[in-house]
Amino acid sequence: MTSSPIDGPEPLRVAIVGAGPAGFYAADALLKAGAAVDVFELLPAPFGLLRYGVAPDHQNIKKAGVAFERTAKHPAFRYFGNVPVGTALSIDELRADYDQVLVAIGASTDRKLGIPGEDLAGSVAATSFVGWYNAHPDFVAEHFDLSAQRVVIVGMGNVAMDVTRLLVKSPDALAGTDIARDALSVLRQSRVREVVLLGRRGPAQAAFDQGELADIAELDGVEVVVEGAPVEEPNHEHSVGAKRNLEYLATLPRVPSGNAERVVRLWFCSAPSALVADDSGQRVRAIEIERTELVRRSDGSVSARGTGQKELLEAGMVVRSIGYQAKPLEGLPFDAKASVIPNFGGRVGRPGEALPGCYVVGWIKRGPVGLLGSNKQDARETVDAMLEDRDHALSSRGSRQPFRVLEGLRARGIRPVTYADWLEIDERERARGAEIGKIREKFATVAEMLAALDGA
Ligand SMILES: Cc1cc2nc3c(=O)[nH]c(=O)nc-3n(C[C@H](O)[C@H](O)[C@H](O)COP(=O)(O)OP(=O)(O)OC[C@H]3O[C@@H](n4cnc5c(N)ncnc54)[C@H](O)[C@@H]3O)c2cc1C
Repeated sequence: MTSSPIDGPEPLRVAIVGAGPAGFYAADALLKAGAAVDVFELLPAPFGLLRYGVAPDHQNIKKAGVAFERTAKHPAFRYFGNVPVGTALSIDELRADYDQVLVAIGASTDRKLGIPGEDLAGSVAATSFVGWYNAHPDFVAEHFDLSAQRVVIVGMGNVAMDVTRLLVKSPDALAGTDIARDALSVLRQSRVREVVLLGRRGPAQAAFDQGELADIAELDGVEVVVEGAPVEEPNHEHSVGAKRNLEYLATLPRVPSGNAERVVRLWFCSAPSALVADDSGQRVRAIEIERTELVRRSDGSVSARGTGQKELLEAGMVVRSIGYQAKPLEGLPFDAKASVIPNFGGRVGRPGEALPGCYVVGWIKRGPVGLLGSNKQDARETVDAMLEDRDHALSSRGSRQPFRVLEGLRARGIRPVTYADWLEIDERERARGAEIGKIREKFATVAEMLAALDGA
């Protein structure tokens, strides 16, 4: 269904919570349909995981930001960064002041393994590691010890591939990117020579995209080895992605040659069962791994079952990369199991019990999966629902006044960052980068970003 422009003098007034890709794709569709859009973002900087998730050596992906910058130039678009909805402003306040509220807050936290020893130092979440190398203000102060030879990563999705690549790639190849300065210097000192990735299931069920693994295998001095389970022949039951993975995995060695500078080992049919502490009792020293076997369920899907056969692998750091998880937002329902705000086609609630004027888009709508482009399609669905509901939204507007956002926020001690402010920060970051041969040198904390605006 195509969104049709709204005629008439009074535009639909929409508040979007979250300035990640999903929020921007939705803003673009809403603006094209004649709505006025105010975006409220937790951090001063927009673009969500495009800035703070996508790896620094994936600059071609980050170019998607150019389209978002175009959207932001629309005269009916306003941006208010540094405004955490849920604390600075409530959902109820937004609902009172806008015709519709669209929540696009993504999924910012990590899932736990639920095994003994998980809270030891050296047991870390991929969300923190990724946030750290991308200079996310919540993670810049983290410390990652890369002094041991081996790192184990639990999980084999694309995020695990990003983390692996950053650990085995030459730091010189990252130096010109927008990687966090501190992360680059820690990576320069790294003694990591081996990264072991654990996958509970077999090669046919692996979650990574073949191209992501090939990017690692093609790095100079790096060898990728497939262990733990045979690589089966692709057949008609396999998805296109699985076939591509199987064909590629079959070309990789089964044992390390001993000649590579760094080795990446893919251990299939291997699940973590405990983390083991060193003598201090505080730090991770090793990971206990249980071999699994594959079980076909009645619906045809394949699951993994522990065999009881266990082994211990020494590791200086264990990274859990088993998925992102969303946080609830006060004032809206939350489905913790699915890690989404319950919705149907983007309307918050359930059919027949929709929460009037409330919508969701992106990872908080569908769960934390999917590449950038999937959020565009998703935004179209939600915006279509919003436009279907617009007559109702406008007729129930009553005496509602447009929210005097800037004044209201300042009165609460919040310093909103406008889009013009962001462009200033952006320019400063690029200039700082240019001085040291980098695309950009990000400000690492919110305080630094705000100070840059105040001329510091
Ligand atoms: C590590 C990693 C690497 C990735 N690499 C790629 C890649 O190479 N290519 C690709 O196509 N896709 C990649 N993706 C996927 C892509 O980043 C996601 O599809 C996309 O970012 C999801 O968009 P979103 O807007 O739903 O969420 P997000 O990008 O998370 O945006 C949500 C925004 O909401 C804000 N927010 C959260 N809470 C609040 C609040 N209370 N108030 C106000 N604002 C709030 C956040 O600060 C954030 O800016 C990657 C994802 C990850 C995790």
